[in-house]
Amino acid sequence: MAKIIDGKGIADKIYEELKEEVGTLKDKPGLAVILVGDDPASIVYVRNKERACKRLGLNYKLLRFPQSIDRDELISNIRALNKDERVNGIIVQMPLPKHLDPFDIVSNIDPLKDVDGLHPDNLGMLLSGKPRIIPCTPFGIIELLKRENIDIKGKNAVIVGRSNLVGKPLFHLLLSLDATVTVCHSKTSDLKGETHRADILVCAVGVPRLITADMVKEGAIVIDVGINRVDDKLVGDVDFEEVKNIAGAITPVPGGVGPMTVAMLMKNVITAYRLQKGEV
Ligand code: NAP
Repeated sequence: MAKIIDGKGIADKIYEELKEEVGTLKDKPGLAVILVGDDPASIVYVRNKERACKRLGLNYKLLRFPQSIDRDELISNIRALNKDERVNGIIVQMPLPKHLDPFDIVSNIDPLKDVDGLHPDNLGMLLSGKPRIIPCTPFGIIELLKRENIDIKGKNAVIVGRSNLVGKPLFHLLLSLDATVTVCHSKTSDLKGETHRADILVCAVGVPRLITADMVKEGAIVIDVGINRVDDKLVGDVDFEEVKNIAGAITPVPGGVGPMTVAMLMKNVITAYRLQKGEV
């Protein structure tokens, strides 16, 4: 039976370390979150970020706008936050309404305040092998693997999902750590053939229980990023009950990657603060 990777426990340890670090800083770093519309899942995610800031004693500010806000008004609010010295990190909660292009909106955040790591400058630095601010979920996955002492070098890593948020940045991080990386997506012709070769399998798809036991190699490390609501319960992209009998280690949903994502966001706010002070 697989080891269940305790993402929440590891995230708690990271909060302890970050709290100590915050205590050594001259001022309190601050995070500003922009929420457009009232998507219930986004409201929950934003609340988690506020809680994490409180836990570390960081300043937190929420700017809420109606679904109908136009591009220019949203961008002028982002530019005001770019200039606000009490704000060190800015995130725009996704998804945005259809009339707003996420790439355009995120490109208007000061790259040194882009704590989601999705500004083209930050993604470009990651691609160049010189990561500055790393997208929180892939960053959290790498941190989980490291803290669980899981070898990455030379391993076959297979990522299912090629989003800008998870799959693509994770590809670069795993590659830079010397894994041989395959990225699968909805047009992959033999998904089972690909996943079955994985020593490390990461699923970031958004399809409940897509990954079944017959798709997983015995002893593989399985990281489940998916968050899906089924019958009022949260489930991942992996059929946890079946796959845990095959895998060497597996992250649960909830309690796996999710808490790590928020912890790494907090780490990014502190990194952004230090970047702005010229300390790193
Ligand atoms: P996304 O932008 O919707 O991307 C989904 C990816 O999955 C796409 O690349 C898509 O392929 C691929 N895909 C869809 N159906 C597939 C199938 N049947 N077989 C193989 N690939 C398939 O999603 P995302 O933002 O990366 O998020 C993925 C999941 O992770 C969601 O459940 C989301 O809620 C969750 N998530 C969790 C966290 C966390 O902190 N735990 C953070 C971020 C996201 P194409 O590119 O071909 O369309």
